[in-house]
Order: sequence, then structure tokens, then C-alpha cells
Amino acid sequence: MTRFDDLAEQVLQGHSVTREEGLEILQTDEAHLLPLVNAAYTIRHAYFGRTVTIQMLFNAKSGACQEDCHYCSQSSISTASIDRYALVSADDMLKGARQAHEAKAQRYCVVISGRSPLEKEVTDIASAVKRIKQELPMQVCCSLGLLTEPQAKRLKAAGVDRINHNLNTSEAYHSSICTTHTYQDRMTTLRNARAAGLELCSGGIVGMGESDEDLVALAFALRDVNPDSIPLNMLHPIPGTPLADANHLTPQRCLKILCLFRFIHPRRELRAAGGREFNLRSLQPMALYVADSLFVNGYLTTPGQPGREVERMLTDMGFEVAGGKPAVPDSPVPAN
Ligand code: SF4
Repeated sequence: MTRFDDLAEQVLQGHSVTREEGLEILQTDEAHLLPLVNAAYTIRHAYFGRTVTIQMLFNAKSGACQEDCHYCSQSSISTASIDRYALVSADDMLKGARQAHEAKAQRYCVVISGRSPLEKEVTDIASAVKRIKQELPMQVCCSLGLLTEPQAKRLKAAGVDRINHNLNTSEAYHSSICTTHTYQDRMTTLRNARAAGLELCSGGIVGMGESDEDLVALAFALRDVNPDSIPLNMLHPIPGTPLADANHLTPQRCLKILCLFRFIHPRRELRAAGGREFNLRSLQPMALYVADSLFVNGYLTTPGQPGREVERMLTDMGFEVAGGKPAVPDSPVPAN
């Protein structure tokens, strides 16, 4: 039994990984990467079997944001060439939901650019979500920026299941990647969404120059947030953004970071999110031995793996699409 098998067993018995153990995972040498991934798979398998949850994003409003998030092609300081458009119609949002359903996505994620939504945008998105929920048996998640509690309540009343709002990075590193809103602003939105009875999706972006300690701090902060799902975006540097030349990730590093989050969040839906194709490259399938969730058909302003290719990858691995089962069972499912 390796050191990480032992740690995985402890986690399955209820042990909470310490900061020191988190750093040990991140600093594992390449020779021990496979045993680390195997141990993380023990945890993943205990709670999720061989299932994978699929999400599809829909960029319902693009560009022209006044915020300065350094990683984002839609920010006020980005010169990236991207599409810019106002909030699309409810018909278009519904059309996107149908496409997501056809791609076997369990969850459709409506995303808009901007610091926070206008009241009219909340009204329009709420009425589109009502139509989606009437027509399709799928979960709807919204990522609309900073939200007040009344806005969150209106979304909940319309049938929105989950709100995405990432912490993005550690509290200490946040001002290095954004100066127009604070880490605490983000925490407040998560509290407002929770108070409205919404499920939470909250994770981060890795590869922005943060330290190992920042990554462990982010994983620990998310323990307090207790989200239902954790998306881990791996920075895809975009020309025209301040992080265009960032080069901090390797495929092995991405796997170690995913393992860190699996060990610290054994029961949470863990998503290999934006940038997975770019950063994991040929190691993409290995990420699914750790994560249990992914996006299909691309991201907000960058393309991604089409649904058919994802399906082939899952079949090749002997994995299956989750099929509407609860993401987090009360107790571990027996190992095969
Ligand atoms: S608030 Fe959203 S859209 Fe605006 S710059 Fe930040 S990440 Fe991009």
C-alpha cells in the first residue's frame, strides 16, 4: 500500500486532509504521480462509481465587461478579439438548452459577462429558465456575476437549480488577478445564493501564478463554502489579456491539482473545467480517474471537445454518463 493509498483510506474513513498533506500531494514527484492518481480514483470511485456528469455552457451575453479580471478575454483591459453581444433572446437560450440536452448534458449553464446582472436581465433569464424547465428534464445553472439575495430568490423561484460563482483563487492572491471587486464580494454572492435556497457551484482557476499554498488555501476556503460542485478551470492564456504569457501548468501539474481537490473534497462533484483540453492534452482521460464531471462543446470564448468525442472517450474508458443520479450519495458505493 502506498502513502497515498493509506491517505485515501483515511479520507474514506472521515479524515480531513491537512494543509501539510495538501502540499505533499501538490509536490509529489512525477515518479509517484500514477500511485497518487490511483489513490484519488479510490475516493472518486467510492462516491461516484464510474459515472461522469456532463455540463454544457451557453454564453448568453458576451464581452464589454467593466471588470478587470486578468484571465478573462471579456474584461475592460482585454484586447482579445471576441464576439460582443447583449443578452440573447429567451428563444435562443431555449435553443441552447435543447442542444445541451441532445449532447446528453445533465446541466445547462447560462453565463453572462459583467460584474452583476441588470434587473431586466434577471427578469429575462428567469422567464427563459421557466420555459426550459417546463420543456426539458435537465438542471439549470446560472453564472451571472455578483448577485443580491433578492435577485438570487427571483432566480430560484423561476426554477434555477444552481448558481456558479467561483472563488477563483486564494483570498491572499485575489488582488493579483482582479482589482475591481474583492474576494469578499464573491463570498457575499455565495452567501446570498445559499440564503435563497440555491445549490452552489464554486471553484477556481489554476495556473495564474499562484503558489502551492494559495491552491491549498483555495481548497480549504471551499470547504467552508461547501459547494455542491467544484469546477477547476486550468488557465488557457488568451492573447490580449494580462495573463497571455502565463506558462505555469503542465499536464502532470494539472493532475496533481485535481488530486488535491479530490482528497480535500471527496464527496463533491469535481469538474475538469475550462482549459482541460489545452492543458491536459494527451493526459485528458486520466483526469477522469480523479474528476467526475466535465463540460462538452467548449467554453465562453474558446472552443472545446465536442460531445461526440467526449462520449467516445468515456466509452473507451468504460465510464458512463451519470444519467440523472444524485451526484453525492449518502454513503460510498461499493468498489467493483
Ligand atoms: S466579471 Fe466576468 S466577464 Fe467580467 S472580466 Fe470578470 S470574469 Fe470576465
